[in-house]
Amino acid sequence: MKNRVNIDWGKLPFGYFKTDYNIRTYYRDGKWGELEISSSEYIPMHIAATALHYGQEAFEGLKAYRGKDGKVRLFRWQENAKRMHHSAYGIMLAEVPDELFFKAIEKVVRLNAKYIPPYGTGATLYVRPLLVGSGPQVGVKPATEYLFLVLVTPVGPYFKEGFKPVAIEVVRDMDRAAPLGTGKYKVGGNYAAGMRASERAHQGGFASVLFLDALEKRYIDEAGPANFFGIKNNTYITPQSDSILPSITNMSLEQIAKDIGLTVERRKVPFEELDSFEEAGACGTAAIISPIKKITDHSTGKTVEYGIEAGPISSKLYNHLRGIQEGTIVDIHDWTTVIERI
Ligand SMILES: *Cc1c(COP(=O)(O)O)cnc(C)c1O
Repeated sequence: MKNRVNIDWGKLPFGYFKTDYNIRTYYRDGKWGELEISSSEYIPMHIAATALHYGQEAFEGLKAYRGKDGKVRLFRWQENAKRMHHSAYGIMLAEVPDELFFKAIEKVVRLNAKYIPPYGTGATLYVRPLLVGSGPQVGVKPATEYLFLVLVTPVGPYFKEGFKPVAIEVVRDMDRAAPLGTGKYKVGGNYAAGMRASERAHQGGFASVLFLDALEKRYIDEAGPANFFGIKNNTYITPQSDSILPSITNMSLEQIAKDIGLTVERRKVPFEELDSFEEAGACGTAAIISPIKKITDHSTGKTVEYGIEAGPISSKLYNHLRGIQEGTIVDIHDWTTVIERI
């Protein structure tokens, strides 16, 4: 609160903005070391580090929110810690214990308290835990040394012009992840795999790409870096798939949907079903919900439209989740952790 840096928070982009400190620790000889505070934006890296050569790297993303009551809250960090365990399992990284995960986040948020955007600006402090194979290998093997780093960066409101629907593009000629591949882990390699499709979509004027299941191309998989959901007949429907990243936002929206009286279905969503939804959206920490105004199939040009304004149920879900994060709606599921005296 005191000593806040002078930034035009409302105009801040959703990008990297330098803060004062990051937190690091190394896993060596089978154990994690002490947390180190660093003011450098660089990491010294072995030229044969497995992260660089073989993509042995995972990350997380969550936010610290300044509430209306002045308190700073983290949202379901335990789920991020758990998901990082899954990613570590998936690509054989050293696991970060939950206590270490939380301690690092709490410390880096405190150290950069002056960069926590004030309530009401729509801006938040994005927290990015990163776990990398830093030890050298030339043969393909997991590293024996790991770096766990947490950086923070203030990010502006995702929707500068308000909660506005976006256009997305279905891709059939590229896949992000195979059914038994790494799609369910939050690893950088999935992003590299999806980058060409996503850049083509951006160049075509689309906000994001919509991947189909890699095996049959019959079902909806993921909306780029976000999960997909559709709404019809008072039901929240989201794809069941082994190649999508289990979004904590999606999981929370499913619960909120139940809380406000919707039916929730997590099942395969055939491509043809897109026509029948009353509302559709992409969800993730960055935007909570990006409502979708239209979905165009890159291969056939076929377009489904949902309207240029966010639908009533998407809006309700968005406002409810945002209210919990900002402390204006009672957190009945105990999802938030207050960082005291900051
Ligand atoms: C991080 C991520 C999401 C969103 O997850 P949240 O926990 O809701 O932020 C969705 N899809 C992919 C591929 C992701 O990496």
